[in-house]
Amino acid sequence: MHQQVPPAYSAKPTCAALKILDAIVVGSGPNGLSAAVALARKGHSVLVIEAADTIGGGSRTKELTLPGFHHDVCSAVHPMAVASSFFREIELEKHGLEWVHPTVPLAHPLDDGTAAVLHRSVAETAEGLGPDAMAYRKLMSPLVRNADGLFRDLVGPFRFPHHPILSARFALRGVRSGANLAESYFRGDPAKALLAGLTGHSQLPLEKVPSAAAAIMLGVAGHAVGWPMPRGGAQRIAEALASVFREAGGTIEVGRRVQSINELPPARAVLFDLTPRQVVAIAGEQFSQRYRQKLERYRYGMGVFKLDWALSGPIPWKAEACRGAGTLHLGGTLNEIAASERSSWNGMPPEKPFVLLTQPTMFDPSRAPPGKHIAWGYCHVPHGSTFDMTERIESQVERFAPGFRSLIIARHTLNPAGMESYNANYIGGEINGGVHDMWQLFGRPVLKLDPYATATKGIFFCSSSTPPGGGVHGLCGYFAARSALRFLRK
Ligand SMILES: Cc1cc2nc3c(=O)[nH]c(=O)nc-3n(C[C@H](O)[C@H](O)[C@H](O)COP(=O)(O)OP(=O)(O)OC[C@H]3O[C@@H](n4cnc5c(N)ncnc54)[C@H](O)[C@@H]3O)c2cc1C
Repeated sequence: MHQQVPPAYSAKPTCAALKILDAIVVGSGPNGLSAAVALARKGHSVLVIEAADTIGGGSRTKELTLPGFHHDVCSAVHPMAVASSFFREIELEKHGLEWVHPTVPLAHPLDDGTAAVLHRSVAETAEGLGPDAMAYRKLMSPLVRNADGLFRDLVGPFRFPHHPILSARFALRGVRSGANLAESYFRGDPAKALLAGLTGHSQLPLEKVPSAAAAIMLGVAGHAVGWPMPRGGAQRIAEALASVFREAGGTIEVGRRVQSINELPPARAVLFDLTPRQVVAIAGEQFSQRYRQKLERYRYGMGVFKLDWALSGPIPWKAEACRGAGTLHLGGTLNEIAASERSSWNGMPPEKPFVLLTQPTMFDPSRAPPGKHIAWGYCHVPHGSTFDMTERIESQVERFAPGFRSLIIARHTLNPAGMESYNANYIGGEINGGVHDMWQLFGRPVLKLDPYATATKGIFFCSSSTPPGGGVHGLCGYFAARSALRFLRK
């Protein structure tokens, strides 16, 4: 139990003379801010402490290359933010957040100059997949029709579903590997490639269970709510959350890296928007040996290597459909993408990486000087890799958009080490707060009925190292706040 700041982490304050906060949130990523909002809106006094000089964590926008070019440092495309029941409830749009929807959410170019396209409409998407049209409809339609129920039941901690048949349908498709799902549903390369690209977001090899879950969830979200970007960049999500928080009476302190729980001001509860390794370093002495050992066994996955480009013009895609897409998956066929992800997972930087790319200025010109463009792209690399992927990533873009290189005015690179020094949560360059395999899907950070509450009263996890995991949706923070509220009510 924490000793230096009585009566921190006890349910009832014992010393009225001390100004004791109800809660401190360490870290101002989307989950930290969401936890803070959920607590402050229930009338609690909450302080957020952030190591960096600006708020936002993985949801920040900066002029990384040249003045006037506004790049998203981390997250760029936000289907799960729009689908998030918590973000809807707090109406971020009333706090300056505006969603920009590209003409189509996603395109996946192929070597013959065509592209598989994920449209908002399932029917239109299916039509483009030729012999696999019926199979695509069969795969997606029942889930897209009930997308709201699906998001509510499955995007969060494990609990009994309100829509058990729907959840079972999802499980049949999602609790398997992406490669197996693609091969069992589809015959043609375009449909298999489209599903492979979606599976790539799982950050697991395509042969690993349950990599298909990410593919299905993101595909359903693409149809049901789109894959939009905030006008002005991802920072706007953090700013809107901070605005709701301040309106509810909350306080934010930036530029303060928390090294030990003992240095925090007195508070009844502390919520960490951090991953298990950092929480052990900061508060390990508060935990039983058994719980600490469980946290130490938590696993982190592949890293990312990221490039941001300032461009003199729009990317000259061979496939016309790619111009209207907010996001592009560059990697060719299912087999090529599977080889790329397998290689990174096994510790070898891929020869032909699977690249995720966005082109925000095609839909939001405010993010670059007139006539100029930005693009954002990354690929998975081995955990902690120091290999420079610039040439390999740009070759993949050039493959589907000849002439791309000649448009580059400036570029900014971040390798896994750069990622980790930018944000301590990105251990080894991993961006999702830990591997999302079967064991760590719901059992993050440890398998527990309430995974947000640690084994020590008053100390909570609220980061993407809790269910539902990585992405900007605020739901880890929201569910952590619910757990903390139960404690504060005692
Ligand atoms: C390259 C990249 C691309 C991504 N693309 C997308 C995307 O397109 N869409 C999407 O939804 N998600 C995307 N993500 C993932 C998304 O950004 C994360 O899942 C999300 O930010 C996790 O939020 P969080 O609040 O859990 O943690 P974080 O956002 O990581 O926030 C943690 C905060 O804690 C602070 N902190 C760390 N240590 C301390 C300390 N000791 N004291 C005080 N503060 C501390 C950090 O500075 C940081 O601000 C991407 C991430 C990366 C890196």
